[in-house]
Amino acid sequence: TPSRKANTGEEGTGGAGQRVSVLLPLPLEGAYDYRLPPGLVAGPGSFVEVPLGGRVSLGVIWDAAPDAAHVAERRLREVIAVKPAPPMRPALRQLVEWIAAYTLSPPGAVLRMAMSAPAALEAPAQASGWRRVRGAEARITPDRARALAALGEETLPGTEIARLAGVSLGVVRGLASVGLIEPALMPRAAAFPRPRPDFAPPVLRPEQEEAAAALREAVAARRFGVTLLQGVTGSGKTEVYLDAVAETLRQGRQALVLLPEIALSTQWLARFERRFGAPPALWHSELSSRTRRVTWRAVAEGDAPVLVGARSALFLPFPDLGLIVVDEEHETAFKQEEGVIYHARDMAVVRARLEAATCVLVSATPSLESVANAEAGRYRRLGLPVRHGGAAMAEVSAVDLRQHPPERGRFLSPPLVAAVTETLARGEQAMLFLNRRGYAPLTLCRACGHRMQCPNCTAWLVEHRAQRRLLCHHCGHTAPTPAACPECGAEHSLVPIGPGVERIQEEVAELFPEARRLVMASDTIPGPAAAAEAARQIEDREVDLIIGTQIVAKGWHFPHLTLVGVVDADLGLGGGDLRAGERTMQLLHQVAGRAGREDKPGRVMLQSFSPEHPVMQALIRDDFPGFLKAEAAQREPGHWPPYGRLAALIISSEDARAAERGARELGLAAPVGDGLQVLGPAPAPLALLRGRYRHRLLLKAARGVKVQPVLVDWLARVQLPREVRVQVDVDPVGF
Ligand code: ADP
Ligand code: ZN
Repeated sequence: TPSRKANTGEEGTGGAGQRVSVLLPLPLEGAYDYRLPPGLVAGPGSFVEVPLGGRVSLGVIWDAAPDAAHVAERRLREVIAVKPAPPMRPALRQLVEWIAAYTLSPPGAVLRMAMSAPAALEAPAQASGWRRVRGAEARITPDRARALAALGEETLPGTEIARLAGVSLGVVRGLASVGLIEPALMPRAAAFPRPRPDFAPPVLRPEQEEAAAALREAVAARRFGVTLLQGVTGSGKTEVYLDAVAETLRQGRQALVLLPEIALSTQWLARFERRFGAPPALWHSELSSRTRRVTWRAVAEGDAPVLVGARSALFLPFPDLGLIVVDEEHETAFKQEEGVIYHARDMAVVRARLEAATCVLVSATPSLESVANAEAGRYRRLGLPVRHGGAAMAEVSAVDLRQHPPERGRFLSPPLVAAVTETLARGEQAMLFLNRRGYAPLTLCRACGHRMQCPNCTAWLVEHRAQRRLLCHHCGHTAPTPAACPECGAEHSLVPIGPGVERIQEEVAELFPEARRLVMASDTIPGPAAAAEAARQIEDREVDLIIGTQIVAKGWHFPHLTLVGVVDADLGLGGGDLRAGERTMQLLHQVAGRAGREDKPGRVMLQSFSPEHPVMQALIRDDFPGFLKAEAAQREPGHWPPYGRLAALIISSEDARAAERGARELGLAAPVGDGLQVLGPAPAPLALLRGRYRHRLLLKAARGVKVQPVLVDWLARVQLPREVRVQVDVDPVGF
C-alpha cells in the first residue's frame, strides 16, 4: 500500500466524518488523508474530488479505513464530491500497486494511466429527443402527418424525425408548438454492439482446433493461466485466439487484445468484424477525447465486450476480464520507455493473474523470456507448425554484398534488381524493406567532413528530402536543409550518406520507371485512414512495388506479393545490444512472412555483408528453434536475461558535469552481495538525449534475487542534487 501523507499544509474545519485516504493521479509519494462528510457515500475505489493546495483534484479512495496516526483529525480537509462512475475495482487497484512496486514508480503516476479519460467520470449526458403526446389531437398538415408517422411510438431526435419523414426541422417544431409531441430523454444506446461469438466462425484445421480447444477450456475454467501460442506467420494463430475471444463472450466476460500497431491494423479489424458481425471497441493514443470518454465509460459499465488496444488499454476498468491476448508478444512497442517504464506483455500477465483470467501470448518468433517461461513450465505452450492452406514458407536467400556490390551511389545489388524485374514481369508485387525513414541517415560536408548532428542528442540529423528538412528521429528537432555547410561555409558541399526509404524509392523510380510505387513509412502512412487506403491499393493491385520501413512488417496479408528484398539486413546488428540478434531475427522473420501468403510461392532476399552471421543463417535455414538455442547458450552462463535479472539506472542532467558526478557517486555506493553485480557507470547509449547528458549503471542479479529492495536501498544511500534525475528501468530491453 502506498505510504500516506498530510493532505496539505492548510487547516481543515474539524468535525464529524469518516477518514479516507485518497490516491491522486500525480507523481507523489503516497495517498493523502481526507474526511468524507456525512452527506457523501463512497467506499474503496470511488472516484472523488478533493482539494489539493488551491485546486481541486480528482482521485480514488484507496483505503476507506486508514489508521489515524499520520494526520491530526482537525487538519483533515473534506472530500468535495463523489463522481457518478463505477468505482475502481480491487483487481485494478492491485495492478496499480503492483506496477508501482515493480517499476519503483510513485503509485499516483501509475494511477494516472488508469484515469486516462477523466471526463468519463461524469454521468454520461443523456440525449433528448421527441415523443408523441398520448391522446393529444390537433389539425395537421400532410408534412406534419408524415413526421408523426415517422416518429411512431419511439423517442427520436428532431433531426432524425425530419430525415426519416423527408421534411424540414420546422415541421417538427410545428408539431411541438401544437402540443402533439413533447421532449423526452432518449433511451441510452449501447456504445458498442455486442460481437456475436458464433456469427461466422471458420472451420479450423485439426491442429488449430486442438490449440483452440485448449484455449477454450482455459477460458471456461475462469482461472489464471498463461499460454504461449507459437506458429509461423500465416499458420492461423489469429483464428485460434479469436476462438478464445468467442468463448470469453459465451462466458459473459470481457476480452482484451493488445496489438503493437493498432492504428495500422485495419486488415485485422475488418477480419474481426467479418468473424463476429460487429467491430470491437478500440483504444489507442489517436482517439478523439470524445471517443476516449465514451469508450472508457462503456468498458467500466461492461458495455464493451471486446476491446482491441495499444499497451495503455491494459489500464482500462473492465469489470470482468476473462481473456488478455498479446499479439506479436515479442514486439518492443509493448515496452513503455517514458514516465512509468513498464512492459505491457509482462503486466498483461500480472493483470490476468489478478483477474483470474487467461492470458495468451502470440508470436511466430517469441521472445527468449517467454520461451524460457514455457520451458520452465510456467506457461503452457501451443504450436501451429505449418501455414494455412498449404502455402509454403518463402524461400530465403542472402545476397553477399561483397560479391555483388550495387553500382556506385546505388543500394540495390544486381541479383535483387534482377529478381524485382522478374517478379514485375510476372505481374506480381515486390516489396523492398529498409527500416529507416527519410532520404539519408547522415548528411556530410564534402569540403570539411562536418556531419550534421542534432544539437540535443547524440544522433545524426536525417534528411527528409520531400520536406527539404533535416530531422532528429529521437527528439524531433528539425531545420531546413542548409544550402551551405554551417561549419566551413562551402556551398553545395553537403552530400547524403547511406539510404533511407525515400532514397530507395528514388533509385527504384530510375530502375523501374513503369512500376507503380508506394512508400510506407510512419510519415507517409500517418494513421488508420492512410493505412486502410494503402492496403486497398495493394490488394487491388494498383501498386507494383512497395518500399517500406518496419510498418510493412506487421501482420499484413497481401495475396499478390511474392518477393521481399531486405535492403540492409545487417542494420540492427551493430551497437552491442544484448538483444540485437534476437530483434533483427524477429523483424526480418516477420518481413519475410509477407511474401507468398497464398498459392504463389514467395522469395526473400537479404542483402548482407555477413551472410554467415547466425541471424542470416537461421533465416535462410528457417531454423528459429536453433537460433533460440544458440542465443540461450550465449546468455545462460553469464546470467543474462532471461537467466538472470537486470535493472538499469539512467542518470541524467542538462549539466554534463553534474550528470557524470551523479553517476560516479551512485557507482561508489553500488550494492554488493551474493549474486549481485554492478556494471558501469558508463555513458548511456544515447549519451545526449533531448538536451540531457546521460550515464548508465546496470545492476545484474541472479534470477532468484528481488532487485527492487536492492535498488531502493541503493538509491536511498545517495543524495543527488535536484538537477540530476535518476530513472529506474527494471528489465530494460535496449542496452
Ligand atoms: P497468423 O495469425 O498465424 O499469421 P492467420 O490467422 O492470419 O495466421 O491466418 C493466415 C490466413 O489464413 C488468413 O488469411 C486467415 O484468414 C486464413 N485462415 C487461417 N485459418 C483458417 C481456417 N481455419 N479457415 C479459413 N481460413 C483460415
Ligand atoms: Zn535530437
